[in-house]
Amino acid sequence: MALPPPRKRLGQHFLTDPAKIEEIVAAIGPSDTLVEIGPGRGALTHPLAGQAKRLIAIEKDSDLAARLERQFADNPGVTIRCADALHEDLSVYPKGLRLAGNLPYNVATALLRRWMELRTHLSDLTVMVQREVAQRLAAPPDDPSRGQLSVVAQLLMQVEMLLDVEPECFDPPPKVVSTVVRLVPKESLPIEEEERKDFTRLVRRAFASRRKTLRNNLPEIPDRTWTETNIDPQRRAESLSGEEFVRLFQVSGALR
Ligand code: SAM
Repeated sequence: MALPPPRKRLGQHFLTDPAKIEEIVAAIGPSDTLVEIGPGRGALTHPLAGQAKRLIAIEKDSDLAARLERQFADNPGVTIRCADALHEDLSVYPKGLRLAGNLPYNVATALLRRWMELRTHLSDLTVMVQREVAQRLAAPPDDPSRGQLSVVAQLLMQVEMLLDVEPECFDPPPKVVSTVVRLVPKESLPIEEEERKDFTRLVRRAFASRRKTLRNNLPEIPDRTWTETNIDPQRRAESLSGEEFVRLFQVSGALR
C-alpha cells in the first residue's frame, strides 16, 4: 500500500540513513519495557522490537499507526497505540520504563517537561530533538543557550548529548541538525518533591527578561537574601549554577 505523504503539522521527518538508524538503536540499547514515541514509518521501531522484551509505540497519525499495526500483527511483544503522546498516561506501564524516539519537533519540549514530571517512574529517556533543544537541556552556566529548561532539567536529570544527526539522514530533510540526548532521572534532589513547582516558578521568573539582572527580575528578594546566599544581584540568571539557584530558593521565602 502507498505511503501517505509526510505531514508537516505532525513534524514528520523520517529517518532513512541505515548507518545512523543503527547508531541510534545501539545508543538506546536493550530494554524490558520500552515506549517509542512517534514511530512513523517504523525506521526505529523494527530494530527496537528486536531488542526490547515489550515495545509500546505511540503514533498520532492514524494512517501510519494502522500500517504499523498490520506490520506487527504477528508480534505479541509489540503494541501500537494510535494516540497523542502528550495525553498518554505512561504511569500505567511498569516502573523503570524506558522512553525513546525521534520526537516531533513541535511538541518535543512539551513532551520532555511532561516526562520530567513522571521521572520517578522512568529509568531513562533516549530521544532525538533539534540540536538547539539538546544544547539548551545540557547548557552549563554562562552558556548562551542556558535558560529555565537547562536549570530545571539538570536539577532533575543527568543530561548527556550522545550523537548528532544531519538533515540528509531524513526524508524530508529538516532545516536543522538533530541530536540524540539521554536523560536519566537523579535519585535524590536537593529540594523536596512538593517544592518543585515553587522552584520552577523562581527559575522562570529569574529568566523572565534575559537582559535584566537578577535584582530586576526578582525585585521582591531583599538585600539580605543576596548577601546571605553570596549571590551578586547584578548577575544575570544564565550565570547561576543549579546549586546557586537551590541556595537562592532555600534562603528566600519571598516567592512562596
Ligand atoms: N520515528 C520515525 C523516524 O524516525 O523515522 C518518525 C519520526 S517523526 C520526526 C515524528 C513522528 O511523531 C511522526 O510519525 C509523527 O506522526 C508522530 N507524532 C507527531 N506528533 C505526535 C504526538 N503528539 N503523539 C504521538 N506521535 C506524534
